[in-house]
Amino acid sequence: MDKIVLASGNQGKLREFSQLFTTMDIEVIPQAEFKVPEAEETGLTFVENAIIKARNAAEHTGLAAIADDSGIEVDYLLGAPGIYSARYAGVDANDENNLNALLAALEGVPEQQRTARYQCCLVMMRHAKDPTPLICQADWRGAILAAPMGQGGFGYDPIFWVTDSQCSAAQLSATEKHAISHRGKAIRQFMQAFRDETSPY
Ligand code: IMP
Repeated sequence: MDKIVLASGNQGKLREFSQLFTTMDIEVIPQAEFKVPEAEETGLTFVENAIIKARNAAEHTGLAAIADDSGIEVDYLLGAPGIYSARYAGVDANDENNLNALLAALEGVPEQQRTARYQCCLVMMRHAKDPTPLICQADWRGAILAAPMGQGGFGYDPIFWVTDSQCSAAQLSATEKHAISHRGKAIRQFMQAFRDETSPY
C-alpha cells in the first residue's frame, strides 16, 4: 500500500479526508505524525498555497504529499475571505471567530446578495521537486445565512446554506456533505486521476 502524507493540521479536514479515502488502497498519514512544521501560506491563489503545503510536507518526510487549500468566497465581499478564510478574524482566529467576523461583515445584507461558494484545491506532489503536481479543484455553491444553524461539519458550515438540501452544511450528515461538497468532488477527481496514473499501460 502507498503511503502519502496529508499536509494539514485542520481537524475538520483530517476527519473528512479519513472518511473519504477509505475506499483507496493508500495509507494517508497526517503530517503531525512526522512533526512537519506548518508552511507559511504566502501564495495568492488556492493552488499556490496547496503546492506550498504539499511541497513542505514532501520535503520534510521524503514521502508523496497531498495538501488541500480551501476557503469560502462571498460575492458581496468580492470573493473575501477566499484564501484568507482560516485567518479572516486574525492569525490566531478559530472557526467561531471567523464565522462571527463573516456574519458581521454581512450584517444587514439582504438574502439575495449573500451568495457564496466553497472552493477546494487538492494537490499531490509525488516528491518535493515534482514538476507536474496532480491538481484537482472543485467548488460548492450556496449562500450565507444570517445566523448559525446546526452542529455538524466545521468552519463556516453552520452559516453555509445549501439550497438543494434546504438546510445548512452543518445540518447535513457527513455522507450527505461528502456527496456534494467542494472537498468531496475534488477528492473524487483525485482518486480517479490517481487510479489512472497507477494503473498499468
Ligand atoms: P486552509 O487550511 O488554509 O485551507 O483554510 C481553509 C479554511 O476554509 C478553513 O479553516 C475553514 O474556515 C474554511 N473551510 C474550508 N473547507 C470548509 C468546509 O468544508 N466547511 C467549512 N469551512 C471550510
